[in-house]
Amino acid sequence: MYAFTLERPASVADAAKLIGAGAKALAGGQTLLASMKLRLSAPDQLVDLSGISELTGISKDGDSFTIGAMSRHLDVANHAELKAAFPALADLASRIGDRQVRAMGTIGGSVANNDPAACYPSAVLGTGATVVTSKREIAADDFFQGLFTTALEDDELITAIRFPVPKRAVYEKLRQKASHFPLVGVFVAQYDSVVRVAVTGAGNGVFRHAGLEDALNQSFTAASAAGVKIDASDLNSDLHASAAYRANLISVLTQRAVTKALG
Ligand SMILES: Cc1cc2nc3c(=O)[nH]c(=O)nc-3n(C[C@H](O)[C@H](O)[C@H](O)COP(=O)(O)OP(=O)(O)OC[C@H]3O[C@@H](n4cnc5c(N)ncnc54)[C@H](O)[C@@H]3O)c2cc1C
Repeated sequence: MYAFTLERPASVADAAKLIGAGAKALAGGQTLLASMKLRLSAPDQLVDLSGISELTGISKDGDSFTIGAMSRHLDVANHAELKAAFPALADLASRIGDRQVRAMGTIGGSVANNDPAACYPSAVLGTGATVVTSKREIAADDFFQGLFTTALEDDELITAIRFPVPKRAVYEKLRQKASHFPLVGVFVAQYDSVVRVAVTGAGNGVFRHAGLEDALNQSFTAASAAGVKIDASDLNSDLHASAAYRANLISVLTQRAVTKALG
């Protein structure tokens, strides 16, 4: 590591001001501190968000849940009301990384970081959630912009994520055994009028799959998902899996998700 200063503001407004002046937000530190140790990131000033009470809390309002940006993965995994009304999201959080990552990592940090293999972005995009920031509200479809890139501006903090509760939803992932990051993850959410399918781990960033959504909108069955050919040409190939393998996983995991959703 190297020298940097650390601020602990008590309000979102103060934190946003510091970030606008070039400081870096520190949430759970599960990504940021590792990248600082590797010298991939070298901020002069960190802004610890953990003292800002406005960023905490999970609440249900009508048909949606609002989850504060500093909610740890364990908070989401263990929240009784969320587990009952939106089990897919609690289940997703319960399978992120290991116990330490779940105790420290936050939903705001994960969504802001937009790792192409992160779990939460698939739930945000797969449900058409709203990213609430210190400046505005951003629809999920406009938020994720490819590899580690989002619509967030330099002086903008995520304050919460608002999820519309689906009628049925399931998150399926094949985890990379060492990290538990998904090799591929698929979030399927069914609402009264629409089915959304978001894929993580397979491409340059999280994306919706139009072919699977069309098929599942016509018939919400595993057979319908199985009939969709998944194009591998834009998918990742790396030491863990080829693009063709990932394409097959998208199909298989979607079929499993639909089967589970139907009970
Ligand atoms: C061993 C290991 C295994 C993991 N496995 C998984 C996994 O299976 N699935 C998965 O999805 N993730 C996994 N992760 C990542 C983990 O979920 C992290 O918690 C997450 O990537 C970052 O969250 P954080 O709160 O630690 O953010 P930090 O590391 O503190 O910050 C990450 C980035 O987001 C910015 N940021 C943080 N909060 C905000 C905010 N409110 N507004 C704007 N910008 C903000 C920071 O400035 C930084 O650029 C794993 C990590 C590790 C170390």
